[in-house]
Amino acid sequence: GGLVVVFHDISELSRLERIRRDFVANVSHELRTPLTSVKGYAETLLLGVEQGTSKPEGQKSFLEIIIKHANHMAKTVNDLLSLTRLESGKKPFDVKPVDGAKAAAQALRECEHLVEGKSVHVELDLPDTQMVNADFDRLVQVFRNLIENAVKYGVKPDQCGGSHDGVCLAARIWSRDDDGMVIFGVEDQGPGIPAGDMERIFERFYRVDKHRTKGAGSSGLGLAICKHIVEKLGGRLWAESPTATGAGTCFMFTVPKAPAFSDTETVE
Ligand code: ADP
Repeated sequence: GGLVVVFHDISELSRLERIRRDFVANVSHELRTPLTSVKGYAETLLLGVEQGTSKPEGQKSFLEIIIKHANHMAKTVNDLLSLTRLESGKKPFDVKPVDGAKAAAQALRECEHLVEGKSVHVELDLPDTQMVNADFDRLVQVFRNLIENAVKYGVKPDQCGGSHDGVCLAARIWSRDDDGMVIFGVEDQGPGIPAGDMERIFERFYRVDKHRTKGAGSSGLGLAICKHIVEKLGGRLWAESPTATGAGTCFMFTVPKAPAFSDTETVE
């Protein structure tokens, strides 16, 4: 028996070692791409200044590109820290009855800068209160990531033209009761997610369209963070996307229902 156990441990050890190595390789790759750009643009900028050949307009656009890539790196590092902190379990979840409708509304306020000047809006289609047992801030974080994605990927470029006032709906957030749980949905009208990618989008650093998502707003970690939080709260996160019709994506997650608000409960 002892020998079997030893073999078992070794294979587990090498599995973990492989995961660790893949992870380090992924992180390095994620940071190297924007870093290479920052370095390249800064060097060209410096050369132009030294030789007196660059104009302020050109300098400005180079600096803007540098800032964009620096922001990308900052987002990646922040999301990585967020995920690592979640996984280490060092900061325990503060689970109590909270209002999921309030969490969605707060997330939407925190996402306002994303929709500014973009003529898209996100609709809250929730009851006045939707009590769940959850950590309020983590719940806000899940909504925020899903809203961010809906705004980033869920709007078809040609979609705004036909809608009234030129303002198009990026996402609708709804909820419904389901057997002791509440299901929250964040539904968009975008191009959808191909069936083959559906399982993998929750993996770290996985992106459907590697080129389209190279911009500053993508770390490839958002959904991995959401999944971790939701599962820790005792729920499930998944997505449905009837891509054949191009009818968008609906991300859904469940959270345990809490008794309705009463005077004795604390609500965030
Ligand atoms: P990212 O930081 O790249 O947005 P996520 O983990 O949040 O990372 O998402 C992973 C990938 O899933 C995205 O890069 C995108 O390709 C795809 N995706 C996420 N949300 C949507 C959506 N609402 N519509 C279409 N594709 C999406």
